[in-house]
Amino acid sequence: MHSNGNGNGICDVTIIGAGPAGLFGAFYAGLRELKVKIVDALDEPGGQLAALYPEKFIYDVPGYPRIIARDLVKCLVDQTMMWKPIMSLGERVQNLNRNPDGTLTLVSNRGEHHSRSVLICGGVGAFTPKKLPSPEFVPYENKGLYYSVKEKSAFRGKNLLIVGGGDSAVDWALNLKDYARHVTLIHRRDQFRAVQSAVTELMHSDVEVKTPYELKAVGGNSQVQTATIFDNRTKEEMTIPVDAVILTLGFNVDLGPIKEWGLDMIGTRYIKVNRKMETNIPGVYAAGDIGAEEGIEPLNLIAVAFSQACMAVNYMYQYLNPGAKAFPGHSSEKKL
Ligand SMILES: Cc1cc2nc3c(=O)[nH]c(=O)nc-3n(C[C@H](O)[C@H](O)[C@H](O)COP(=O)(O)OP(=O)(O)OC[C@H]3O[C@@H](n4cnc5c(N)ncnc54)[C@H](O)[C@@H]3O)c2cc1C
Repeated sequence: MHSNGNGNGICDVTIIGAGPAGLFGAFYAGLRELKVKIVDALDEPGGQLAALYPEKFIYDVPGYPRIIARDLVKCLVDQTMMWKPIMSLGERVQNLNRNPDGTLTLVSNRGEHHSRSVLICGGVGAFTPKKLPSPEFVPYENKGLYYSVKEKSAFRGKNLLIVGGGDSAVDWALNLKDYARHVTLIHRRDQFRAVQSAVTELMHSDVEVKTPYELKAVGGNSQVQTATIFDNRTKEEMTIPVDAVILTLGFNVDLGPIKEWGLDMIGTRYIKVNRKMETNIPGVYAAGDIGAEEGIEPLNLIAVAFSQACMAVNYMYQYLNPGAKAFPGHSSEKKL
C-alpha cells in the first residue's frame, strides 16, 4: 500500500496488526524517528473497526463525542502516514525467529521482515474473509468473484452482485452504486445486520435488493458473466448477467501461529505482558486487545489500545537505545 522506499532494509520496529493499537503505535514510532513497518492480514487498515463495524458510531474515543468507525480509521491512517511507514497489507505473519545477531525475523505467507524489535498488536487474531465452501467458485476468484474490494474504480460501468446483509455488504452497495452500471444486493434473510440508517438509505437507493436470496453458482468463460441466485423460501432460481460478484460473508479470526512463538500466554487468548508491555521474549512487545497483565481483567477498548501502544513504543525506544529516556517529550513542543 504505502512505502517509504526502505522495504528491504531492517526496521527498528515491525508492528503486527493495523488496528487502532498498531496504527497509533506506528505513529509514536515515527514520532521517535524509528524506522517502522506495519503488517496486517487484512487488505485494509483498521482491524476490528474496518472488518466488523465500519459504519457504527463509537462514543468513547477521547476527543470525539461520537465518530463512525471508518472515519476514526481514516484519521488514524492520516496521522500515522505523516511518517510514511511501510504498510504491508494482505499479509499474514506466521513465524517469529531470533537471528544470531539478536535481531528478529518475521516470516509471513508472502516473505520475511527483519527487525530490531517487534510489537504484536494482533487483536483477537488475523482476519481473513470467509469464503464459499463449494470448490466450483475457486476458479473465479479475482476473475469477477471477490471477497474484498481493493479499488472502487475496478467496478466502474459493471453489473455488480453483492452478497451479504452486514455493514460491509450495505456499505459497498451504497459506495459502488454510482460507479457500477447496476448493483443488485442479495441477502439470505429479510432482516439486515447492518446499521439501520444505512439499510434505510439502501432501500431508498437505486440498488436492487432481493431477500431472502442466496447465491447458487456463477458462470462464465474464465471470467464471471452470470450468477444464479435463488429464493430460499420458494427455491425459485434465476440467472442474471453480472460482471462481478462481491461476497461479504464475514471474517474468520485466528490467533493461530502467534501461540506457537514461545510467548508466555494467559489462557489461549492473551499474550502476557508487564507494565512496559514487554513479553517474555526480549525485544517483543504486545499492545491492544491481544495483551494482558497477569491478575488484571483486560479492558478490550480502543482508548486502552492507544495507551498501551504509546507505552509499548516508548519502552521499545529505550530497549533499542539503552540509557535513553522512555518519555518522548511533548509533541506540542516539537516542530512537525
Ligand atoms: C462490534 C464491536 C464494537 C466495538 N465497539 C467499541 C466501542 O464502541 N469502543 C471501544 O473502545 N471499543 C469497541 N470495540 C473493541 C475495539 O474494536 C477493540 O478494542 C480494538 O479494535 C482493539 O484494537 P487492536 O488494534 O488491539 O486489535 P484489532 O482491531 O483486532 O486489530 C488487530 C489486527 O491484527 C491483525 N493480525 C492479527 N494477527 C495477525 C497476523 N498473524 N498477521 C498479520 N496480521 C494479523 C488482524 O488482521 C487485525 O487487523 C468493539 C468491538 C466490536 C467487535
